[in-house]
Amino acid sequence: MTDPDDVIFAERVTKEAERLAERYGYLPYIVERYLELLGNEAEDLLESNELPMPDVLRCNDYKISCSELASRLGEGGFAITKVPFLPHGYEIAESPISPGATHEYLKGYYYLQDPGSMLVGYLLGARPGELVLDMAAAPGGKASQVLQLTRDSATLLAVEPKRERVKALRSNLQRLGFSNFVIIKGDAMNVSVPASPDRVLLDAPSSGEGIIRKDPSRKRKTTLRDLREIHKRQVNLLRRALSLVRPGGVVLYAACSTAVEEGEYVVHKSLTGLDDVKAEPMVEFPFRRAFEEYRGLRFDDRVSACGRLFPHVHGTEGFFVCRLRRLG
Ligand code: SAM
Repeated sequence: MTDPDDVIFAERVTKEAERLAERYGYLPYIVERYLELLGNEAEDLLESNELPMPDVLRCNDYKISCSELASRLGEGGFAITKVPFLPHGYEIAESPISPGATHEYLKGYYYLQDPGSMLVGYLLGARPGELVLDMAAAPGGKASQVLQLTRDSATLLAVEPKRERVKALRSNLQRLGFSNFVIIKGDAMNVSVPASPDRVLLDAPSSGEGIIRKDPSRKRKTTLRDLREIHKRQVNLLRRALSLVRPGGVVLYAACSTAVEEGEYVVHKSLTGLDDVKAEPMVEFPFRRAFEEYRGLRFDDRVSACGRLFPHVHGTEGFFVCRLRRLG
């Protein structure tokens, strides 16, 4: 019997994919997948990836009110506008100096965070007093958002294996004024967790195919072989997340990628044989519905409750998001 991986990860490249890949500077297999999944929209996605990503900040209302921050930045010559779908999000239209070098930034009044990433932080839905595990936490965008949204009252366990990134994570959590966290330096596959978390965030290490607008090198960085390894790692991490969360608890899996191998196919494989997990529709935001099949493989029905963000549809980074609940 053919291994579905061999079909999903088979390199196929049509003449059209070759033409577009050359024109926009991508590895051809990446464009081929866009054509297979999005058809005529593929070129819209490629065009949107050419637009630079504006800086967006998350106002830290644990330290300052958003209106006070807006007026202080305005006095300093910044032009910022509210992002309608993000309660604490402001797009920076003009900045006289780098937004990471202001007095307000150093005081922890805001965090620079891309809009899709911020949206994921809200979708986790952490509540005061809960135990929250962030399995891939650095540099701390969503981890600090959990503490902000719970007024530093959730207990956050933040995992990160890389020393330099642990430093950035700690410095961000401290700069933003939070104290209710423990940083665990290690691999989320084998760190020990003291109790079953109420919520687990897996913002998975990924190819970063969704942030091409910010980092165009991602157009050529990940080979198909690399992607297969990244996929396997995500499946293992998501299975581990589902094994750790308490019955009745939530696992939010996100990947900043437009690749089906990092979203739908990961959820499909991870849920195989797990009947005690449901996928919750995310009605808070008009996501694109996740892909339901690819290359003849029909994904598990629960995948259809997951969602996607696309640069050409939502104006954000590319993201896959899925909210799973382990039945109690
Ligand atoms: N959640 C972060 C935020 O919002 O700022 C971004 C996380 S980034 C997408 C993925 C992180 O996972 C990277 O910092 C990477 O070093 C880390 N990572 C890679 N392998 C890991 C593993 N096995 N266990 C835990 N973290 C891992």
